[in-house]
Amino acid sequence: MLPYGRQSITESDVEAVAAVLRGDWLTTGPAVGLFEAELAHWTGGVPCVAVTSGTAALHVAYVAAGVRTGDEVLTSPLTFVATAATAALLGARVVFADVQPDTGNLDPDAAAALLTPRTRVVTAVDFAGHPADYDELRQVTDRAGATLVADAAHAIGAAYKDRPVGALADLTTFSFFPTKTVTTAEGGAVAAADPARLRRAAAFRDHGMVRDPAAQRAPGEGGWHQEVHAFGLNYRLPDVLCALGVSQLRRLERFRARRAELVERYHTLLRDVPGLTLPAQRAYVRPSWHLYPVRVRDGRRREVYERMRAAGIGVQVNYLPVYRHPVFEDLGYRRGLCPRAEEYYAEELSLPLFPDLTDDQQDRVAETLAGILR
Ligand SMILES: *Cc1c(COP(=O)(O)O)cnc(C)c1O
Repeated sequence: MLPYGRQSITESDVEAVAAVLRGDWLTTGPAVGLFEAELAHWTGGVPCVAVTSGTAALHVAYVAAGVRTGDEVLTSPLTFVATAATAALLGARVVFADVQPDTGNLDPDAAAALLTPRTRVVTAVDFAGHPADYDELRQVTDRAGATLVADAAHAIGAAYKDRPVGALADLTTFSFFPTKTVTTAEGGAVAAADPARLRRAAAFRDHGMVRDPAAQRAPGEGGWHQEVHAFGLNYRLPDVLCALGVSQLRRLERFRARRAELVERYHTLLRDVPGLTLPAQRAYVRPSWHLYPVRVRDGRRREVYERMRAAGIGVQVNYLPVYRHPVFEDLGYRRGLCPRAEEYYAEELSLPLFPDLTDDQQDRVAETLAGILR
C-alpha cells in the first residue's frame, strides 16, 4: 500500500544516530542543545525546547500558558485530538470555534464570537501546513488578554507574511512523528519568545526540577541537591533522537521544496477532474505542505476512499471534528457544533504526499482518482 505520508531516511541520518549510540550520552547530552539551536533557525530565532512528542509539546505549551481548572481553551475542531485533549487534561473547558471553509483553519471571527472572561488560550492549527490568519488571531487574543498558541505540527518551515511559523504565536508546538515533514521517530518541540514561558516549559519536561543553586530554596543542602518547585513530567527527548533531528533539519528546505513541487503537480494533474475541490492557498503565505487535502463532493468521499485503498493507495481522512470523539460527546458536545468543520470533514481526503513519492507514483494516484470520478 502506498502510504499517505512517510519518513525520508538517508545513510547520513543512520550515521548520526549511530554516532550517538557509540558515545557517552544516550539521553540528555550535547545533541539536545544542538537540535534546539538548529530548530531556532527555523523559528526566526525564537528559542525551542525539545520534548518527546507533539502531544507532549501541546501539554507543555498549555502549562507554560498557565492553563488551569476552569479556564477555557478555544481551538479548531479540525485537528488531531491531542490539540484539545491536552487542555482537557489540565482541567480546561475546550471551546470549539468553526473553521474557514477554504483553508480549514480556525476562523478568527468565529473565535472572537466565543471569547469569555475565562478564555486563557486560543490555539490555531496550521491545517495541512498552511498557516492560519495570525494577524487577525492576534487581535482576538489581545482583546481577551489570552495567550496565542500555534499547533504547528503540520507547518514547520512555513511562513506567513514573510514571518516564519514559530515566531507568529506566543507559544508554538511542533511534532516530529514519521509522517510529519521532519522526524525524530517520536518527538516534538515548543518555541517560546518569552523567557519565563520558556523556563516553565523547560522545567516541566524535566519533573519541574531546579538545579541552579541561585534559584533554589535550600541551596545549602549539599552539592547533590536539586528541588522541585512545580510539578512536571519526564518529556525529555533523548540525544539519540535529537541527533536524528539535527540531521533531518539539514534537509528541511529540500523536504519543503519537494512537497511544494508535488503539490503543484497535483494541482495540474487534478485540475479538470469533476467533483473535486483542490486545496486553497492564500497569497500571503508560504505553506510547508504536510497534507494534500482534496474535497470529494457529491457525497462520494467514502466510495472514493474505499476504491483508492482497494487500488493500493493509502489515502487518509483528516480529521473527524474533535468534539465527535465519544470522550467529548460524553461531556455534552453535540454534532453540528461547527457546521463548516463538519462539511470539510465529510468531503476531505488526503492524498499521498511525502518527499520520496516519485512522479510515477503520483501519476498513478491522480489517474486512479480521475478514473473513479470521471
Ligand atoms: C501529529 C499531530 C499532533 C500530535 O503529535 P504527536 O507527535 O503524534 O504526538 C498534534 N496536533 C496535530 C495537528 C498533529 O498533526
